[in-house]
Amino acid sequence: MSLELRFNGEKKVRNSRFSFSIFSFARQYLYHSLFMAITELDSFQKEIYNRLCKGECKVNELIFTEESKKAFERLARKGLIIASDVDEPDVLRDIFRNSLGTDFALMYLLVTDSCNLRCKYCFIETTLPKDHKFSLMTEETAKEGIDLFIRNLTTNDNIKRNICIYGGEPLINREVVHKSIEYIRQSYSDKNLNIQLITNGTLISPETAKILAENRVDIAVSFL
Ligand code: SF4
Repeated sequence: MSLELRFNGEKKVRNSRFSFSIFSFARQYLYHSLFMAITELDSFQKEIYNRLCKGECKVNELIFTEESKKAFERLARKGLIIASDVDEPDVLRDIFRNSLGTDFALMYLLVTDSCNLRCKYCFIETTLPKDHKFSLMTEETAKEGIDLFIRNLTTNDNIKRNICIYGGEPLINREVVHKSIEYIRQSYSDKNLNIQLITNGTLISPETAKILAENRVDIAVSFL
């Protein structure tokens, strides 16, 4: 289904629950916390986004000119505007699928959306519904994701590729983190792969530290 079809004029839309507005030096940006992408808003995009901050509305209440139509489509293609009646993860999956076929330099392996902390700025604290059920990626799904990433690489193996293991706090799903790291190193030792772990650092056990060191995993510690 194309974005244009999904967003006919009568369709109600809203801002993505993963989008966060940031102001800096009189400019407004949106941060998509799942895609980890930052978009600077032009004046048309600002008008649309800020209008939707007051609540959902119909597409034809947002689009009046060719410029505002283009601005709307740019926000929708980045998953920053979502139809009110769809399951947001399905839309994000579509956007991801549309990008397949291009070459990748980076894959995020989100092994859980759960965390043992509750940082104020995080989507876990601010956007998830009260009855949200946290989940853990299985070892099988993690391996399928890694295989998919490798299958979509071009033959140019000189380019450094990154697999970033992330969450939530990934070490909530410790066994899958360990197995994924070992799988990448054992199955794809011929690829020029860099592995990164983004963690809040509170759950690094001696066993985990040993696996990270032996497999040359870069670690980024992030929390607030
Ligand atoms: S440690 Fe990271 S994932 Fe956990 S609540 Fe803080 S920002 Fe969110």
